[in-house]
Amino acid sequence: MDKIFDLISQEDKYQQEAIRLIPSENFISEEVKKVLGSNLSNKYAEGYPGRRYYQGNKYIDEIENLAIERGKKLFRVEHMNVQAYSGSPANLAVLLALLKPGDKICGMRLADGGHLTHGHPGITFSGKYFESIQYGVNQEGVIDYEAVAEMVNKEKPKLIFCGGSAYPWKINWQRFSEIASSVNAYLIADIAHIAGLIAGGVHESPVNYVDIITSTTHKTLRGPRGAFIGVTKRGIKTAEMKGDGELNKKIDKAVFPGLQGGPHMNAIAAMAVAFGEASRPEFKKYAQAVVENAQVLAETLKAAGIRVFGTENHLMLVDCGVGRGKEMAVKLENEGIIVNANMIPRDQGSPMKPSGIRVGSPAMTTKGWGKKEFEEVGKRIAKVINS
Ligand SMILES: *Cc1c(COP(=O)(O)O)cnc(C)c1O
Repeated sequence: MDKIFDLISQEDKYQQEAIRLIPSENFISEEVKKVLGSNLSNKYAEGYPGRRYYQGNKYIDEIENLAIERGKKLFRVEHMNVQAYSGSPANLAVLLALLKPGDKICGMRLADGGHLTHGHPGITFSGKYFESIQYGVNQEGVIDYEAVAEMVNKEKPKLIFCGGSAYPWKINWQRFSEIASSVNAYLIADIAHIAGLIAGGVHESPVNYVDIITSTTHKTLRGPRGAFIGVTKRGIKTAEMKGDGELNKKIDKAVFPGLQGGPHMNAIAAMAVAFGEASRPEFKKYAQAVVENAQVLAETLKAAGIRVFGTENHLMLVDCGVGRGKEMAVKLENEGIIVNANMIPRDQGSPMKPSGIRVGSPAMTTKGWGKKEFEEVGKRIAKVINS
């Protein structure tokens, strides 16, 4: 047998045994896994349902339509594209659809909890091919909305991202919509981390406030690795008002043929299954438990005298002392607790030597963990940090 199978079975065992607290990770269902490993990955289907460049897509079309239908219903959007290979390409497709190279974009700084694709300067596509202005958080780690409004008013970006990868608070969609409207900018909500909380009804949806929603499907949403781009009513109107034409078509064209070739149909089918799972009552309970469990963990750490940013969602940033984040993450790994080192707001360390760890509840909540287990693991983490 190929050595890979041996490694996979070791990884399987490791995933079962270790305590998984990386907030972007989750455990997919057996159904999602089955669909990912299906023969759908054999098929080429460039184009969209009813408009393919290859023959033999009669079932494939139905599968993609089902994914789109379920996704639209779950996130209450007017149009959905499910072909982006992952969250990063989904964001790039939005940039390609709406902007020209050199246009000004605005997003949250990576060090303050934003994502690479939101205009991180220097090395990323979004930061190199667009002019990027970035906002951040205040002392408490909360977005400084006043400062965002002021900067946007002065710099007049054409597109604004809200949403992040290490932001432990609810996002004020309405405030962002006011800010974006004041300069006629497109507003994109990147809900990669919180899609499951929104689908589960524990976080307000941005659907009435933003033009486009982008998201991965593999984080709190608990689906396959993949992404969707949703166009809202407001987005369709914004594009018309700006004389940009039909937003739905622009998005689809940007994904294919603008950025990608053949869609990964196994992932798209698995997405349809995950959307189905996320629309059931059990998923509401799951999403509620994710937030409650994260709060218990945060309170346990705080009770041990540790500074914690958060939480109103599934994750928190934990202050481990200046520059000690990576060291703590490694120590915890040795104890079977998997987290990642992360910058904290106003970090006195550096990106290579951050002061915090990022901890979240989605994966272990899927495993059936409740408040008791999160309190226990909180005490173990506190012991490591305080020693
Ligand atoms: C994870 C994430 C992405 C990117 O997803 P990949 O699938 O890793 O490319 C984009 N935006 C945000 C806010 C994320 O957290």
